[in-house]
Amino acid sequence: LEKGKHSTNLVVIVFEVVRKENDMISFEQVNKYYGDFHVLNDINLTMNDGEVVVIIGPSGSGKSTLLRCINRLETITNGILTVNDIAVNDKKTDINKLRRNIGMVFQHFNLYPHKTVLQNITLAPINVLKQSAEEAKKTAMYYLEKVGIPDKASSYPSQLSGGQQQRVAIARELAMKPDIMLFDEPTSALDPEMVGEVLDVMKTLAKEGMTMVVVTHEMGFAKEVGDRIVFIDQGKILEEAVPVEFFENPKEERAKVFLSRIL
Ligand code: ADP
Ligand code: MG
Repeated sequence: LEKGKHSTNLVVIVFEVVRKENDMISFEQVNKYYGDFHVLNDINLTMNDGEVVVIIGPSGSGKSTLLRCINRLETITNGILTVNDIAVNDKKTDINKLRRNIGMVFQHFNLYPHKTVLQNITLAPINVLKQSAEEAKKTAMYYLEKVGIPDKASSYPSQLSGGQQQRVAIARELAMKPDIMLFDEPTSALDPEMVGEVLDVMKTLAKEGMTMVVVTHEMGFAKEVGDRIVFIDQGKILEEAVPVEFFENPKEERAKVFLSRIL
């Protein structure tokens, strides 16, 4: 019995060392309440550098809340949440520094309507990263090329299609050179014919090794680009698996029901 106990401890220690070196994002027993409402329930989840994790689940299951905890747009009630080994909710954590490292793209693009595409992208690099106007412009053009619309640099957001605006929003985040990109249903507000161009940009980013957490209902993208699928329902992670496993052989009844409705 004694012997068994020791080897268990050893395994735990080795696991801890490995965890510390690889995890970019780590949720340990994280809970969150909105008042009495238990929106995140004992979340345990780790994401490695360069991994693409796709979060799926019914509306209201807590997907956005989970994502927003990562850059502290929401605070957790208890548990441990770290990003690059920094405790997100520690009072000593420099929240602005944390957020600079994490890009976020929402359903609605939130571009500044009275600024050009170029100005939208260079604003934070100039004001926050203290880049020169020239350097910021160079960086902005690099990312506009990357998302396929360098010719729109002088346009205003209202002159662009939804898909183009969302690509500008992605370029704007990338210009801050984040380690992590969070996507919260980035294609849900788009006309169907524009979904593909945004997913293509995300696919390229994934291939280049960006660490990404993506909430989406685009199951084709999840299957093709996701390294891991996390299925969440009523604030709980019910299933976590590689895409083939999840889509071909979901274990949980609620995951089966969800997939039968969405596919
Ligand atoms: P999802 O993104 O999966 O649709 P959300 O994380 O947005 O889910 O929301 C999960 C649940 O928490 C929903 O029932 C929602 O109504 C509730 N909720 C979200 N934000 C708040 C808030 N600020 N205060 C109270 N309840 C909220
Ligand atoms: Mg949501």
